[in-house]
Amino acid sequence: MSQEGSVSGEHEADHTSHGFQRSMAQFERASRSLAGGVATAFRAAQQPVPVSFTAGHGSRLTDVDGNGYVDYALGFGPMLLGQSPEPVLAAVRRQLDRGLGYGASHELEAELAEAVCRTVPSAELCVFGSTGSEAVHVAIRIARAATGRNRVVKFLGHYHGWLDPVHVGIPGQTGKAPATGGQDPEASAAVTVCRWNDEEALAAALGNDVAAVIMEPAAINVGAFPPAPGYLERARELTARAGAVLIFDEVITGYRLALGGAQQRFGVRPDLTVLGKALGAGFPISAVCGRRDVMAVVADHRVSHVGTFNANPVCASAALAAVTELERRADVHYPHLESVGTAFAQSLRSGAEAAGLPLVINQIGAAAYGFVSDQPVRSHEDALAARPADYRRFARALLEEGVHVIPRGLLYVSTAHTTADLDETRDAITKAAARTAEELEAGDGR
Ligand code: PMP
Repeated sequence: MSQEGSVSGEHEADHTSHGFQRSMAQFERASRSLAGGVATAFRAAQQPVPVSFTAGHGSRLTDVDGNGYVDYALGFGPMLLGQSPEPVLAAVRRQLDRGLGYGASHELEAELAEAVCRTVPSAELCVFGSTGSEAVHVAIRIARAATGRNRVVKFLGHYHGWLDPVHVGIPGQTGKAPATGGQDPEASAAVTVCRWNDEEALAAALGNDVAAVIMEPAAINVGAFPPAPGYLERARELTARAGAVLIFDEVITGYRLALGGAQQRFGVRPDLTVLGKALGAGFPISAVCGRRDVMAVVADHRVSHVGTFNANPVCASAALAAVTELERRADVHYPHLESVGTAFAQSLRSGAEAAGLPLVINQIGAAAYGFVSDQPVRSHEDALAARPADYRRFARALLEEGVHVIPRGLLYVSTAHTTADLDETRDAITKAAARTAEELEAGDGR
C-alpha cells in the first residue's frame, strides 16, 4: 500500500513518481461514499488509479494533479466535436436562460427530429430518450409491437447497453449467462445470441417468431471489426424475408463513421436505428429513428413512449447544434476524422512495432480498438484470446506520457484533434510502447 493509501488492491501499484497523488486521494475520498469509487464500473479499470479530471478543451484534458493529456477516450465516445465545442455551448447557453424543461412540447424537439431524419439515411420518424441503453429498449419494444412477435436476435460480442434482456453475450463473454450480478436470467429468455459476420448462423436463427435482429453494424465494442463484404446486405435480405425488424445500434457509429453513420458508410439501410453518444455532444440524449411504417406503432399509440427527460430542451439544444455543425461542415469534418483516425492508428502501430510490442490496432474512420496480441484480431473469438491486462499496462504507460485512452481498448478521435496533437501523441506512444515492452519482457505484472 502506498503512502497515499488505496482502497482497492487493483490500484496499489507504485504511482507516486508519476504524479497521480491527487487522483489517488480523490479516488480514496470518493470510495468512502460513492460505491466502488467511480460513477460507472468501466472507469475502475484505469491504472494506476481512476484519474479525476478538472477541465477539458478541444482534444485536451487536465487532471487534478495538473497533468495535461491529449484525449482519445472522448467521454466514451460522445465528444466527437471535442470537449465543449463552441456551437454547442452557445446553443445550450441560449436555452439555459429560457427554461430547463417544460413537461410539454417545445420547438427544438421538432427541429431536432427533422435534423435526425435529414441526416440518417433510413430515418423517417424518430423518438427521443436520454441514454443508449434506454433507446435500445425502446427500439426493441417498437419492433415487437410492429411485428407482433417476441424473439430478439443479438450477436456475440455486441454491446447494447446495460439493461437485462440484451446484457448477454457482451464483449468478453462466451455464452448467454447474465453479465453482472443481479441480472434477471429470465429477462433474456426470448433473446438468441448468434455469431456475427456469419450469414448461415443468422439464417438459422431467423424463425417466424423473431421480432428484431439487433447489431452494431460495425462491431466497435468488441474490437472495431468491420462487417464482412456483403454481410450487411445479406442480413438486410434475410431479415426482410423473415419479417423481422433489422435494428442498427449506431450509438457509437452514428455521426461518427459518417454523417449518416455506418448505414451511410456501408450503404445498407436498417428498419430502425439507435443513436446516442455523439448525437448529444456530451449531453445525455438518445434517439430511435426509422421507417415510417415501423415507427407508426408509436405514432398511433400502440407503443406508449414515455420519459420525463425525453428531448428535454437543454439536451435537445445541444444535439441540434451538434448535428447542425456536423451537417453544415460535413465536407471538412468527415475527411478530417478519417485522416486523424488513420494517422493515430498508424502512430500506434509503428510506435509499437519499433518497441517490439505486439499491438494490434483495428481502425474504422474515427473509431478504433487496440489489443495486445500476437495474432491479428478479427473476430470475437480472436478478441477473447488477446491479452487485456497487457493492454491496460500500455494504457497506463500512455497515461503517464500524457495520452488518455480507454483501458479496455476503445480509441476515439474528434474533429478537434490537430496535427500538433498527433505529433505529441506519436512521441508519447513511442515511449509508452518501449516501456510496456520492457515491462512485459521482464514479466512484470503478467
Ligand atoms: N449501444 C452501444 C453500441 C454502446 O456502445 C452503448 C454504450 N457504450 C450503448 C448502447 C449504451 O449506451 P448508454 O451507456 O448511453 O446507455
